[in-house]
Amino acid sequence: MSRHRNVRGYNYDEDFEDDDMYGQSVEDDYCISPATGLCLIFNKFVLIFLFVCVWTGRLYSCLDQMRAVLGDSIPDSTLTQAALKYDCDPHRALDFILTEENTNAHTPPKKKTQVGMRSQGKMLNSSRVEAEVVPKVARMTVSGKKQTMGFDVRSVEENGIVAPSVRRGPSPEVTAAPTTETPSKPSAVNEDSTAPTPTRPTGKSKQQLNIHAELEKRQGGKPLLNLVVIGHVDAGKSTLMGHLLYLLGNVNKRTMHKYEQESKKAGKASFAYAWVLDETGEERNRGVTMDVGMTKFETDSKVITLMDAPGHKDFIPNMITGAAQADVAVLVVDASRGEFEAGFEAGGQTREHGLLVRSLGVTQLAVAVNKMDQVNWQQERFQEIVSKLGHFLKQAGFKDSDVFYIPTSGLSGENLTTRSEVADLTAWYTGPCLLEQIDAFKPPQRSVEKPFRLCVSDVFKDQGSGFCVTGKIEAGFIQTGDKVLAMPPNETCTVKGITLHDEALDWAAAGDHVSLTVTGMDIIKINVGCIFCDPKEPIRACTRFRARILLFNIEVPITQGFPVLLHYQTVSEPATIRKLVSVLHKSSGEVLKKKPKCLSKGQNAVVEIQTQRPVALELYKDYKELGRFMLRYVGSTIAAGVVTEVKGSTYTPFLTKHIAILYSSAFF
Ligand code: GDP
Repeated sequence: MSRHRNVRGYNYDEDFEDDDMYGQSVEDDYCISPATGLCLIFNKFVLIFLFVCVWTGRLYSCLDQMRAVLGDSIPDSTLTQAALKYDCDPHRALDFILTEENTNAHTPPKKKTQVGMRSQGKMLNSSRVEAEVVPKVARMTVSGKKQTMGFDVRSVEENGIVAPSVRRGPSPEVTAAPTTETPSKPSAVNEDSTAPTPTRPTGKSKQQLNIHAELEKRQGGKPLLNLVVIGHVDAGKSTLMGHLLYLLGNVNKRTMHKYEQESKKAGKASFAYAWVLDETGEERNRGVTMDVGMTKFETDSKVITLMDAPGHKDFIPNMITGAAQADVAVLVVDASRGEFEAGFEAGGQTREHGLLVRSLGVTQLAVAVNKMDQVNWQQERFQEIVSKLGHFLKQAGFKDSDVFYIPTSGLSGENLTTRSEVADLTAWYTGPCLLEQIDAFKPPQRSVEKPFRLCVSDVFKDQGSGFCVTGKIEAGFIQTGDKVLAMPPNETCTVKGITLHDEALDWAAAGDHVSLTVTGMDIIKINVGCIFCDPKEPIRACTRFRARILLFNIEVPITQGFPVLLHYQTVSEPATIRKLVSVLHKSSGEVLKKKPKCLSKGQNAVVEIQTQRPVALELYKDYKELGRFMLRYVGSTIAAGVVTEVKGSTYTPFLTKHIAILYSSAFF
């Protein structure tokens, strides 16, 4: 190993430059003396030596890349043979090995042949085509904690040639997989981690764009749906969704094989599917999802942006960020005895997540009653969970008709993309599989008509001029060339490029998770939580607002001056309850008591909240998505609220300067 690393470490470019120098000196030296003859022979040897070095380097590089995918599961001799057969092209050599392995020894997971809906056509193709054209999971994070945008998606052009798409941001795991390039021809895609977002001429002016007609045409008329996966830690969220993506063909065989080998090596074989979504080393080591991973997949009638939220209580703020951007949710619960109870009881995240997503505006919910294989697919256990959860979810504000329960096994893949054929299950369950249920969700009404609003979830430097921000468009639409106002810092910039699901577009509209390339502003002024808006109809920034709140199961009563953390969208801001205005009747909203001394659990109240720094907010009645928030205190969510009145200081140029300084401090 160390030997070929040395060879690979050799700088061939330098050698070739030297070689040029040699050639130059020979040509310049017209007289050929015996010494010069010897020199020429020596040069030939050098050239041959260099050729051998380059070739050996390529071979070792090819073997290394094959091992990165296959681990130690295949003997060296077989790898070398394949490498030699395909002229040290790791791409083709791997295809050969995996095809051989699949036909000879490797038994594919049971579900590979049962792919439903969109992917059926894909699975009919040959393994080679599948391995090449099936994109890797396109992934980005929404919390802004990570500055990585590990996209590495290949698109297929009409002639069947696989074209690399723009890759943004470093993603070591993805880069390591030799699926997209050959070592001898390094792709420009991978050379640079922050390639500029491609821009295209707009073609139509803003006045001409009929946004509704354009939306109808886009994605073959398929509406976009933002889906968040929630649930207690270890309920099986990542495994379930990772397996679903694999069955849909969004993760190619080679990558899956790599995850299987790597997770086996790390002694975490059962986490192989979870690794599709848990990409960072820390997530994998700890076996928990920390940030919110975003991935795209399709059903028969929809394009889904999937957000895999962390279940661990330490990462609830990230989970809120994910949930705030979701239209619908999949709540995963562990059906195993004792485990469902642990997640459901106090201290577990099942209830908290359920409450959070409902408070953040999610009304449709699919409950995956997971790990049903652990309880032999027993109907009684399923019913027990349905009745316990049903009762709670109703209290949390979900309508019975909008909650759907599906028995699943994320590990074996049962009931994920096709209806299960397990006799123990089919004896009593004839309902839809998880994918069918996701497909059946009603797409929400988007506020496309309203002025543009986008909440920034990530900021990163672009290679060209300007920088990129990502976030979900909450209202209105945007076109390349538009000027937008960022609040804070109350400054304008120009949108040079728009990317949705790794594709450059001229426009994007409410509901889309986009990446914008902007120019005309200093990146230091923009932070996670800023709102990009229409400069003609800007959002208000304030430090004081009135809100109606619903208090959850709090232990300490809330009094004037109570410190809280205000969470909404991607914002997390220290604040205090400045005034207790009134206690309201839960259903009628009638004032029961004015200026109460304290508020206790379950109460509905009007309060005034003071933030440390200005925050950009909307009234709930105008923009639901930007007027809804959560309050947290010492690691627990204590209340959900809606903004009823914006008070305090609106934005002034004086504040702009100070906030820019504050925002660029280490607070975020
Ligand atoms: P998360 O924390 O909710 O994302 O849970 P993970 O997906 O990381 O899974 C936690 C553990 O549960 C892993 O060891 C999985 O292999 C295991 N697991 C997940 N789904 C199932 C299932 O359906 N059946 C069984 N038996 N184990 C599962």
